Amino acid sequence: MRVIPLIPPLINSEHIKEKIICIRSQRERIFRIALTQEQNKLIFHNYGHGGAGWTFLFGSVHESIRLYTQHMHAHPDLAQKPVAVIGAGCYGLLTAITLAQRGIPVRIIAKDIENVSSYKAAGFFFPKPRRSASPTESALCIRLGIESYRTYQQIYNRTHPFLTAGVSLIPAYFNPDVDPGFQPYSAQGLVQPPEPVLIHFGAHNRYPMMRYTLLFLDTRVLMQELHRTIHTLQIPLIPATVSSWEEIPESVIFNCTGLGAHALTGDKDIVPVQGHLITLTNQPDRSQLQYLINTRVPGFTPKGTARNDLIYYAPKQEGILGITFLRGSHTRSENRHEFDRLLERSYRYFHT
Ligand SMILES: Cc1cc2nc3c(=O)[nH]c(=O)nc-3n(C[C@H](O)[C@H](O)[C@H](O)COP(=O)(O)OP(=O)(O)OC[C@H]3O[C@@H](n4cnc5c(N)ncnc54)[C@H](O)[C@@H]3O)c2cc1C
Repeated sequence: MRVIPLIPPLINSEHIKEKIICIRSQRERIFRIALTQEQNKLIFHNYGHGGAGWTFLFGSVHESIRLYTQHMHAHPDLAQKPVAVIGAGCYGLLTAITLAQRGIPVRIIAKDIENVSSYKAAGFFFPKPRRSASPTESALCIRLGIESYRTYQQIYNRTHPFLTAGVSLIPAYFNPDVDPGFQPYSAQGLVQPPEPVLIHFGAHNRYPMMRYTLLFLDTRVLMQELHRTIHTLQIPLIPATVSSWEEIPESVIFNCTGLGAHALTGDKDIVPVQGHLITLTNQPDRSQLQYLINTRVPGFTPKGTARNDLIYYAPKQEGILGITFLRGSHTRSENRHEFDRLLERSYRYFHT
C-alpha cells in the first residue's frame, strides 16, 4: 500500500483565526424542491439541504427552475411576471441570477446578506444521500449531485459562463468507514475510484485512508463570484425580513430561506444541526496544505459516553478545521466546549 507523507496544519493558539458556530438547515430524508400555491401566490421552495447545500446547489437550483418553466408553459399569462427571491445564501443568489439571465425581472429580499451559512461551509462535495431517504429520493440526490459536479467541473476548467473561480482539484483522504457516495460518479467517469493508502503527518501515527482526487469548493470565493454576478446583472438586493408571503407584492416567489423556511412554511421536517468550525491562520506554506481530510476518531461525549468524533480539514483560505453535527442544537446553546474537544482531537490526530 502506498504511504503518503503530508504536512499537517498548525493548530496552536497563534494559528487560530476564528471559531465559527453555524446551523445547518436539514430536512428529514431529503431537501425540498416543490411548488405550492398560497394566498394567490406561487411559491417555489428550495431549502433543507443540511450539510450538503453546496454539493447539490446547481442541480437543485436548475431543478426548481425546471419546475418554474414547466408551470409557466402551462400558464403563459404568468410568464415574465416579476419574481421575488427570498434569501441571499448560495441558493437565493444562484436562483436570482438564473431567472435574470432568462430576462425575468427579479429582486432578492434577505434578512442577512453577509452573515449566512453559505459563506461558512467547509466546502466538501459530499453527495451521499441520507440513510433515511427512499430509493426515489436517493435517485434524485444522485441525479442532482451529478449535475452539480459537472457544473463545478466547468468552473474548474474555466468554461462556466459566469463563475470563474472558487473550485480546485485536490487529493481527498476519507476514513475507510466513511462512504462519501461517489460510486455513481465513478460509474460515469467523473471521479476515479479511490485508492487505499496510508497517510502520516511526520509524527508517530499512520492512518489507513481512501484517497480520491476531488473538486474542493472554496465557498467564500464562490459567494464572492455569485455577488459579483448579481452586481453585474444589477439585481436589486433588499435587506428585510419576510414574515409572511402576503407582505410580498410579487405573485411569484422563490423560497430560498434555509433555516428560515421553518418559520415561513411551518415545515416540521426541518431540523437544525449545529456545526463548529475553526479557521486557521499563519500557516508557513499553504501550498503544502492543499488536501482534504474527512475522518472519524474515537472520543467521548461531555457525559463520558463513547462516540466517534469527526475531523475535517479543508484548505479554505488559510485552512479550516472541523467539525460537529449536533442535531437539534440552536445558537441559543453554543456548546463552546466543542471547540476545545475539536482542538484536542485534531492535535492528537495531526501531531502525535
Ligand atoms: C458548519 C457547516 C458546514 C458546512 N459544510 C458544507 C460542506 O462542506 N459542503 C456542502 O455541500 N455544504 C456544507 N454546508 C451546508 C451549506 O452551507 C448549506 O446547505 C447552504 O449554504 C444552504 O444555502 P441556503 O442558500 O439554502 O441557505 P443560507 O446560506 O442559510 O441562506 C439563507 C438566506 O435566507 C435568508 N432568510 C432566512 N429567513 C428569512 C426571512 N424570513 N426573510 C428574509 N430572509 C430570510 C437568510 O438571511 C439568508 O440570506 C455546511 C453548513 C454548515 C453550517
